[in-house]
Amino acid sequence: MAVTGVAPFGLLAVGGGGRAPPEACATSAEAWWNAASFGRWRPRAVALPPVTLAADPARWCAGGGMVPGPRNAAALARAALLALVPAAECPQHVVLVIAGPVAPHAWRVADGGVAVAPGRWVRRYAALPAGASLGAWVHELAHLLLGWPDLPGSPCLMGSGANRGGGHDPARPGPALALDAGWLDLAPAEPRMPACNLGPGAAMALHWDGREVLITSDGGDFAIHDRHRPGPPLASGRLADATAPLLAGVAAALASIAGAA
Ligand SMILES: [Zn+2]
Repeated sequence: MAVTGVAPFGLLAVGGGGRAPPEACATSAEAWWNAASFGRWRPRAVALPPVTLAADPARWCAGGGMVPGPRNAAALARAALLALVPAAECPQHVVLVIAGPVAPHAWRVADGGVAVAPGRWVRRYAALPAGASLGAWVHELAHLLLGWPDLPGSPCLMGSGANRGGGHDPARPGPALALDAGWLDLAPAEPRMPACNLGPGAAMALHWDGREVLITSDGGDFAIHDRHRPGPPLASGRLADATAPLLAGVAAALASIAGAA
């Protein structure tokens, strides 16, 4: 389903126990998504009034807040949202920026959520510690707003690519995810097309050995992905000559994955 337009989310800074609510700014994450979607989609933060809990948020952050309840991050999200009520302008998805050692994650608010106004529920949230990297921000926004899963082993945003460059330069979404979102242009499998003709927002679509694959090429590197299974590439490597035909350049890699479907 094509993902376009603007996706509002609440931005809620949470302090407590003498710790001030942290500075919370999503501007660079918004711009990153705008670029990653080639201008098609943009999350937009709706700043909510910061909340200060009576207790230190760190009290909910043992194990990064990922321990079983009742004292965990899902319960902290609930406590923070209850401290916010009433909040008629609050979007249904909220990112919490916490003055405490929470592990970046996205999950369900404890006990089914919080009605921030009559009939207006927040049931899912993402949590980030103050000072979280851009990679953590954009990865958690993908969980929260796009419902994208973790893809262990993938070099894309939903795998290890979130930490690329120490989290300052997260990798773009893998081609299967980008195609599903409507952010990837498909080029036909034209045997003469040079690899360098394929931009970062495009992939060559090919039926190969009984499955559909996507071939991407970026700065002399190539990758071959299963079109319908987001995750690590089936094969990847370096092109000998980016000005030579892409299909010829990846022929050996295609041969190597034949019969592995
Ligand atoms: Zn994740």
